[in-house]
Amino acid sequence: PRMLDLVIIGGGPSGINVGISAERAGLDYVILEKGVIANSLFHFPVNMTFFSTSLKLEIQNTPFISHRDKPTRAEALEYYRRLVGSFKLNIRLYEEVQKMDTLDSGYRIATKKTTYAARNVVVATGFYDTPRLMNIPGEDLPKVRHYYDDPHVYIGQRVLVVGAANSACDAALECYRKGAEVTMAIRGGEIYDRVKYWIKPDIENRIKEGSIKAYFHTTTDEIRPDEVVLGTPDGQITLPNDFVLAMTGYEPNYQLFERLGLAIAEDESCKPLFNPETLETTLPGVYMAGVACAGRQTSKLFIENTRDHGDIIVEGITQQRQLA
Ligand code: FAD
Repeated sequence: PRMLDLVIIGGGPSGINVGISAERAGLDYVILEKGVIANSLFHFPVNMTFFSTSLKLEIQNTPFISHRDKPTRAEALEYYRRLVGSFKLNIRLYEEVQKMDTLDSGYRIATKKTTYAARNVVVATGFYDTPRLMNIPGEDLPKVRHYYDDPHVYIGQRVLVVGAANSACDAALECYRKGAEVTMAIRGGEIYDRVKYWIKPDIENRIKEGSIKAYFHTTTDEIRPDEVVLGTPDGQITLPNDFVLAMTGYEPNYQLFERLGLAIAEDESCKPLFNPETLETTLPGVYMAGVACAGRQTSKLFIENTRDHGDIIVEGITQQRQLA
């Protein structure tokens, strides 16, 4: 294959951002996306509202119009669709990257469909493809969901929501309001303090009034077809149950990182090793972008605070090119 300047792995907000910087700099690049444009956002809950204002999600001086200050999932998908269209980004959809090998002066990137060669590679694969598992018996039952979608599914059902962060609180409130019987199993003693400021009092008051039953300092020990077993401070209890929404978070795909040859920090962050100023990894010409940079510390980085990654990386690539 032709030697490209740059292959960008992942067509989420960060991959698109790097793509626009590359397009503007006149680089010969391609974005490879395993699903649809902004695939992670596409799989967010259908009624989701972002915690960021649209102004803070805006990239590359392109206005992000939303009806309220905080955009919905649908508005965000429209924004990224329009960015791809108006900057005429070279993006290939439904093309999953599987591995990468080193060439004399660059890398060979193998997808499910074909192979590419590039002098530089950007890994912008996010963290939404790998749910953090509870590793308990019954987790693989079909009634257990690691992605919450639409409350309509849970009307009239006995739903256990595991977790106490944003996704858990959003899911619990929505399902309760559509007529599900909602129970929460929460490992700590309270709702996570960084839950969206307009959601936190709502969930806390529903718990206080007993509309949503919450078990604190509680683990989910086992899931059976018609019940769940919780480990509470007063001992194990068994509750009748139809669905489990395991909102236990996500982490980057470490198997993919390994197949790309990335080195990972040995501390608890499990971050891919990269230079924080240039975003270049220990593989020359291979860069990290977006939330994938955070490793397991997924609450540290988001769209808002990674918007400069595109320009940082493309500037690094063009400087290297001038030196060569
Ligand atoms: P992603 O959006 O995850 O994009 C990664 C892309 O890479 C995906 O499209 C994926 O399909 C693709 N990919 C993965 N592996 C491969 C492969 N092998 N080959 C090809 N393509 C691949 N951030 C904010 O700033 N504000 C918010 O309000 C906000 N709300 C959030 C709500 C939820 C429910 C979640 C989970 C996250 C939220 N975040 C928010 C964080 C936000 O999702 C991320 O910041 C954003 O999606 C990160 O963009 P990204 O491009 O780095 O990663």
